[in-house]
Amino acid sequence: MNHTITEVTPGAITERVSVIDVREPAETAADHIPDALLAPLDSLLVFVQEAFPDRDTRIVLYCASGERSRKGAQTLIDEGYKDVASLKGGFREWVSRSMPVAGGSTLSRYARHLVIPEIGANGQRALGEASVAVLGAGGLGSPVSLYLAAAGVGRLSLIDDDVVDETNLQRQIIHDTPSIGEKKTDSAARRLRDLNPDVDVVTVTKRLNASNVKEILGGHDVVVDGADNFPTRYLLNDASIHLSVPVVHGSIYRFEGQISVFYPPHGPCYRCLFPAPPPPELAPNCAEGGVIGALPGVIGSLQALETIKLILGIGEPLVGRLMIHDVLSSEVTTINIQKDPECPACGSDQPPELIDYDETCLR
Ligand SMILES: [Zn+2]
Repeated sequence: MNHTITEVTPGAITERVSVIDVREPAETAADHIPDALLAPLDSLLVFVQEAFPDRDTRIVLYCASGERSRKGAQTLIDEGYKDVASLKGGFREWVSRSMPVAGGSTLSRYARHLVIPEIGANGQRALGEASVAVLGAGGLGSPVSLYLAAAGVGRLSLIDDDVVDETNLQRQIIHDTPSIGEKKTDSAARRLRDLNPDVDVVTVTKRLNASNVKEILGGHDVVVDGADNFPTRYLLNDASIHLSVPVVHGSIYRFEGQISVFYPPHGPCYRCLFPAPPPPELAPNCAEGGVIGALPGVIGSLQALETIKLILGIGEPLVGRLMIHDVLSSEVTTINIQKDPECPACGSDQPPELIDYDETCLR
């Protein structure tokens, strides 16, 4: 059935309207209307049905000249969308009126993301709006924060109270020789800002404790655990249950690394596996523990990937699974892990009490 398509002028595009660019990725890569969603004509219907199940949503479509957007509007109206319009004259008209445009360097920086259907412009925008806390600017925190900053995650909070030591440089690649003696948060933040000035890097040069943990971690979409000690790891686990935030866990020891996503009630928490910290005398000593330098690069990169998957809502995050890498035998094993109904942290409706444990070391 043919309907008369409503055509609007650029002035009709306000914050109350959902604007969708129906041009092809090659066209939108250069520039587009700020905050427009990008959905090429042939994927428009599926995109709109997913993003706007409410048929009363006010939608304005545009293309280069106004032809394709009229076709798209017809498709949506045929599917029952009641408030759809096409931008008369398209993006050309928009530009000729000197209206603001977005794109350019941003699209060039993330070009290799934008061509992946699972990410695209909308996924890139989701990354830019995401906020991630990275606990520890050390072996794991180095690759995690470097890759998340490179990927364009909007806000990265780096939490570490340590200073760069020469023994760190064998694996903590975000730091360098001139930064020995400097606060790790400052050294890392400088590198991340150089890598991607779009990212808001927030430094928290504090040790987490029971009284500050919720305030420091609150407001983040994902927390990445790169902690090097048991008290922090348990505190983080318990606080994440208070905050209902997923924790991307990573740990490394000599030639073995482990990674999982703890996200109760969707899966177990760290305490479901290890109910209580080991006594300090049984925890590996920092100097004795040891770790091969490239291992945190592997595990930290996987943590960055899991974080990106969680932000984008794609793939199968490691919720309820523990991946174990033995880099000496080159064996990778993924095992299912269960939620413990008796878990001291996530086993009841009441979030756990936050506890400051004695100092022990994981490295
Ligand atoms: Zn649990």
